[in-house]
Amino acid sequence: MSVLVRPIAVALALLAAGAAQAGTCPRPGTLGVSRVLPVEVGADGLFVGTKSYPDTLPLADHEIVLSFDDGPAGKTTDAVLAALEAECVKATFFVVGEMAAAHPEQLRRMAAAGHTIGHHTMTHTILTKVPFERGEADVETGWQTVDRILTGTAGDRPKTPFFRYPGFAATKPLDAWLTERRVAVFGADFWGSDWNKSTPEALLALTLSRIEARGRGILLLHDTHDYTAAMVPGLLAALKAKGWRVVQIVPAPPPATGG
Ligand SMILES: [Zn+2]
Repeated sequence: MSVLVRPIAVALALLAAGAAQAGTCPRPGTLGVSRVLPVEVGADGLFVGTKSYPDTLPLADHEIVLSFDDGPAGKTTDAVLAALEAECVKATFFVVGEMAAAHPEQLRRMAAAGHTIGHHTMTHTILTKVPFERGEADVETGWQTVDRILTGTAGDRPKTPFFRYPGFAATKPLDAWLTERRVAVFGADFWGSDWNKSTPEALLALTLSRIEARGRGILLLHDTHDYTAAMVPGLLAALKAKGWRVVQIVPAPPPATGG
């Protein structure tokens, strides 16, 4: 039997490598994406994530939105992308402009793999600590850098109007400025506290306990840490085993302009 196991393992490894190409998802047996949730921003803006705001996304019990901040970061981001791809899962990456500028090809692969690309400023400045104009410039330069890499053009509104404040440090003037531009502001409903150095095992246990305690919501992790990247395959396996369903958020199409 053991003679047979090796070629099968090699074949599976090749299959996994091949899965990195577009068009192989959905695949039977994977966690996958259970539904795509278009997120619309009205005139009053949109602020979601119960760690910071009263409301979150309209998610059913055991539905989760996966989000990763602060990349693209090279090796650790590649490991996260591979883990997501192996389970046909799509996440939202809130990317930092200067990280995107340092890893433009990786950003393009991320987008080409079907993930949602949100924004997280140009330099990851804590915006409560700088004057409004400087904050505004950091936010805008961030999404314009990303949009230029992905589409060749950039404007005064991001192509994907999703934003998360570094450190959740929101200001009223920037909230108003983002709302004017119909940009959704995302907090989170739970996180792994992976800004603290951890091991994949400890991070997985902590993250799962918080997810199970709340029962639905937006998860925040960081694709900049090796222990987080190493934890993602175990997280996806556990979500699958526990009957969780992954929801992908995307921008709602602009309303039809009739009459
Ligand atoms: Zn961040």
